[in-house]
Amino acid sequence: MKATRHSNDQSREAYFDCNATTPVLPQAAEAAFEVMAIFYGNPSSSHQTGLRARDLLETTRKKTALVIGAHPEQVIFTSGATESIQTAVFSALHYWKTCPHPSSLTKILYSATEHKAVPEAIRHWVKTLELPYEMVEIPVDSNGQLDWETLKLELPQTILLCTMAVNNETGVIHDLERISDVLKSQNSPALWLVDCVQALGKIDLKLNSSRIDYAVFSGHKFYAPKGIGFLYYRSEDLFYPLMVGGGQEKGHRSGTQNLPGLAGLGAVLDLLLHDKSQAKARIDGSLLIQPHEQLLKYREKLLAVLQECFPKLILNTPLSFSVPTTLNFSVPGFRSSELLDVFDSAGLRVSAGSACNASKPDPSHVLKAMGFPDWRSTSAVRLSFGPLTSQKEVDLACNLIQKASAALSASCLLESQDLSEPPSVELNGVIQLRLNSNNTWMLIHQSSKTCIVIDPAEPLVERISQIIRCQKLNVLAILDTHIHSENSSARIRLQSVLADRVIFDPRQVDSLGWPSVHPNLKKISLKSSQGLTVLVLEVTEKSSLIFSRITDSDKSQDDTQFLLGVLSTAGDLSVQFAFCGGLILDRDRSGSTFLAHDSELAQWIQENTLICPIRDSVNQFATTLHGGQDSPSFRADLWADPCVKQDELEVFLDQKSPQPLLIVDVREPQEFSLCQVWSQVGFTQPIRNVPISRLVQFMSELLLKATDTPRVLFLCRSGNRSLQATQALRKLGFRSAWSLEDGIALLG
Ligand code: PLP
Repeated sequence: MKATRHSNDQSREAYFDCNATTPVLPQAAEAAFEVMAIFYGNPSSSHQTGLRARDLLETTRKKTALVIGAHPEQVIFTSGATESIQTAVFSALHYWKTCPHPSSLTKILYSATEHKAVPEAIRHWVKTLELPYEMVEIPVDSNGQLDWETLKLELPQTILLCTMAVNNETGVIHDLERISDVLKSQNSPALWLVDCVQALGKIDLKLNSSRIDYAVFSGHKFYAPKGIGFLYYRSEDLFYPLMVGGGQEKGHRSGTQNLPGLAGLGAVLDLLLHDKSQAKARIDGSLLIQPHEQLLKYREKLLAVLQECFPKLILNTPLSFSVPTTLNFSVPGFRSSELLDVFDSAGLRVSAGSACNASKPDPSHVLKAMGFPDWRSTSAVRLSFGPLTSQKEVDLACNLIQKASAALSASCLLESQDLSEPPSVELNGVIQLRLNSNNTWMLIHQSSKTCIVIDPAEPLVERISQIIRCQKLNVLAILDTHIHSENSSARIRLQSVLADRVIFDPRQVDSLGWPSVHPNLKKISLKSSQGLTVLVLEVTEKSSLIFSRITDSDKSQDDTQFLLGVLSTAGDLSVQFAFCGGLILDRDRSGSTFLAHDSELAQWIQENTLICPIRDSVNQFATTLHGGQDSPSFRADLWADPCVKQDELEVFLDQKSPQPLLIVDVREPQEFSLCQVWSQVGFTQPIRNVPISRLVQFMSELLLKATDTPRVLFLCRSGNRSLQATQALRKLGFRSAWSLEDGIALLG
């Protein structure tokens, strides 16, 4: 195998997530491969094959020491930074366990923005070893800098201080010189561990002449393969092995060394050493360790494009305190995942804060520690590159950012420069905006260019207003299904933000927003002789589309229901959607249980009415009169695996079935428009885009279909959203809903 590329070779992809991991340097991949193929010996063997392996091991140790300014004896190889951190913390605790010390030394200090591996390791080993130490977090300011007063105050009682050289989420550089000065000026006995993972190759390290006792590194953060890392320790008496066994690494870290990883690391170190000795060394004609000024220019250009595309962008990275290779920012009104999805569809790979947190959507502890409000964490995007990033890659990234923002504007999510143009995506029908498990519903009626908003959530006010302006709609009503006890309703704010768009008088609405005077308000009587006050959306020859509130004099205004339906000229009302104030879909309460207790609503709805909840913690989206039934056959069907595996896809698509096949991409329109790779991945059928936000409208279409109910195959990028859609449809009784397992990301 000959490695020939440094990044993704598809010229449409830009990898800007180097703080999570970098691509592997081609020379490193080649070196690792060569070791596996030729120099595969065990460095502990005494024969020639082993001796060659040993030579590679020790040569790499020397190069490592040279790069970090240490002696080779001060370096042991590990599997990565997490293991190095465990070893360092374990060693430090053992040192203090065996070294007599005053009882006033009771604390372990760590900075509030450490990678989780550090506080977790401290907590784990203090607990496991049953030691009495108290963990104390050192706060940081809004520039991510340590609070010097806390450091000075706590140091006299401290046995171990843990700080980092460069933060992985923000790129903030910690002032190691100043920390060292504080330690020295106080003559502190504390051991000092520095997490240098994000500093390798970015800032100069001269560990042996520093006050640092332990420093940890991971190869894959600087172009070496994963699974190789190293630990620097100042002196033998500070070291205690975490792993024992065969006695490798002078007995400091047993286990046969990862020679392919070491060979890869060696190649990367060569690059760094070359660069140190010959400024701007060009190694293979294409890869160059870019000088600092060049990296600053890259950052400047990326930031300028980001700010042009997202004028409201707020930087979380304090530029003058950071390495040039990390840009962390938030865009008001956008959750991180929304921006990541659209960037990913455009081909730009970035992440939300730290990669370790990608599966846990907790707000970033780093941005929180810097004192930023929660929304900045939940909206944070981290764009990170490396010293080997080229101008071409930066240009491509800029181009992809522009494409992503154009797609967001076309989807009415980002303010467009030109509002006189019609929107490229015309929204129609019921739109569900979810915030955590709460629903805001928008009913858009394109032909009359009107809309109704139900239960607007405060953080969505700007988004709703943006959609309404972009779609050039007038607002018939803004309503709440219940009185908001904890937070004041966003209804009033939305009303004022959209003052030029509302066609009702805000002074003439009740406490839930229902108008008493309105140009579209009408009293109607039904065939059943019931009377109803309605807002009329459209009148045709045979029917009218009406929106109504069910008034129930016995009920408090805590759980109002609204209906959207078609009223025939004969006075029959077919209710398509019921928006229910009191309905919360969760594991224990199905729609049918709710309805059993709501006799008023039960009078109005039919078999195929979609009942839309205010809250939905189980991603059911909506239910029907018989949705959520507990019959054993229904359950069995629901829990049957609804996934089509990647290798079964061809057979699935070719299946002969009396039911027509409908392929539905559930990604948002901006993602769908950016990434239409269908022909490349073998789909010949047309693909329909039904974003999750419009799934309920799609459900209604299916429910109203008397014949020819299709088989539906849902797709999305990773298989998560399509699985949600599939399960929601199955819960409604659509047995032939399927999801492509692991998504289109793995196709092709
Ligand atoms: N420390 C920092 C600053 C990091 O960025 C990371 C990885 O994200 C780690 C420690 C853990 O490194 P690894 O997962 O390679 O062990």
